[in-house]
Amino acid sequence: EYDIDKNLRSPICVVLGHVDTGKTLILDKIRKTRVQEGEAGGITQQIGATYFPIKSLQKLTNKVNKKHRYKHKLPGLLVIDTPGHETFTNLRSRGSNLCDVAILVVDIMHGIEPQTRESIDLLKKRKTPFVVALNKIDRLYDWNVTENMGFRDTFKNQKKHVQMEFQNRLNETILHFNQLGMNAELYFKNKSIKDTVSLVPTSAVTGEGIPDLLMYVVQLTQKYMIKKLTYLSTFQCTILEVKVIEGHGTTVDVILVNGKIHEGDRIITCGLNGPIDTTIRALLTPQPLKELRVKSEFIRHPVLHAAVGFKISAVGLENSIPGSEVFICGQRDDPEELKERAMKDLNSILNDVDTSGKGVYVQSSTLGSLEALLEFLKQMKIPVFGINIGPVHKKDVEKASVMLELKPEFGVVLAFDVTVTGEAREYAKEKGVQIFEAKIIYHLFDRFTEYMKEVKE
Ligand code: GDP
Ligand code: MG
Repeated sequence: EYDIDKNLRSPICVVLGHVDTGKTLILDKIRKTRVQEGEAGGITQQIGATYFPIKSLQKLTNKVNKKHRYKHKLPGLLVIDTPGHETFTNLRSRGSNLCDVAILVVDIMHGIEPQTRESIDLLKKRKTPFVVALNKIDRLYDWNVTENMGFRDTFKNQKKHVQMEFQNRLNETILHFNQLGMNAELYFKNKSIKDTVSLVPTSAVTGEGIPDLLMYVVQLTQKYMIKKLTYLSTFQCTILEVKVIEGHGTTVDVILVNGKIHEGDRIITCGLNGPIDTTIRALLTPQPLKELRVKSEFIRHPVLHAAVGFKISAVGLENSIPGSEVFICGQRDDPEELKERAMKDLNSILNDVDTSGKGVYVQSSTLGSLEALLEFLKQMKIPVFGINIGPVHKKDVEKASVMLELKPEFGVVLAFDVTVTGEAREYAKEKGVQIFEAKIIYHLFDRFTEYMKEVKE
């Protein structure tokens, strides 16, 4: 039934889409289905990710892989759990993409929504292959549920008027894609997956179509990505989040895409105020669910192999930046060279900003989102004169306020997915510096353009 190729690593899959389309529930449903079938053991909850081993994938796709005609070769699938743009933009390494494949979730009742468009832009920019889960089919009026059934089988069981409503909504979604300059087609009718987006109808509530979705992801990766999935000796590891954990201090949540990592390894990464050079104190993953009563929240590992999501505990990680790469400094490596490489992305972003010019002040939560935001502002021809990563402090507002005298309308802070301290807010009010806050790039942009219009009038 399967024939694992030992030279292949597991692909990394990210789930994107508009809020409330069902991203979280789709993952929950996949996990639960396996738990109900008494096979949760193989599925491992990691940091920011869930790992589905081949055995699980094979069972989950049974219904659409009759007689096991299709042979699974990949060891498993690592699905990133914290869906959203943030995670996607941070799955990067030297500007290239670490995520192998994406599931873009669209609500069949709503079609393409604003964040769907933003997701498509990001996917196109990173050249990430993706499949669309056309979710919530169970909400079509009079839908006849058969739990966890393949889409084509369950569709045959629907009444004529349900099938017609489905067809209408499908056509509408396809039209939306056409309007964005893309072809789209039901996945089993798609004859040209290189230039046509595949749509897989699903329900995260009933599990219908989920076998099709997983099967599609497996086939897509297995058919077109073997080269990318072949184990390389190169080590690739990216920070997704920086978190303070009781008993561990500041830790970083990372995804190891390639290679292996040991407790005690010397690591080098990018810090806000310069490179961070430290030694791994512990590699941590969560305890399995059934062992919740054990004292410690995490399991320590002496070594971990890609692809895997985990937490690194080490001294001196306070100023580390999500979206940065982690390097291992072995005995034969030159630490100075690695430090330079670690700082390269941040430095090149900093160098791109003309601090002597006129422009707005931009603050973002991560390297990935900062990069995406700056790219966006460039397209919109909004100049930037200062940037920072992390919460907005009084000193940031002070910097932005410099513009009030040079070009008053630029005396603003564009704060993307970051908190603003009370002190910064008070100071901004006092000085007349506007702080625009948003978690979605184009919301930030919309608010700023509206403001610019007002200023001009
Ligand atoms: P997310 O914001 O994309 O992660 O969306 P959630 O997974 O949190 O789902 C948003 C809401 O839609 C929740 O109330 C879900 O119960 C509901 N939902 C998600 N998927 C489906 C589906 O396939 N069918 C129905 N009927 N409801 C769904
Ligand atoms: Mg969610």
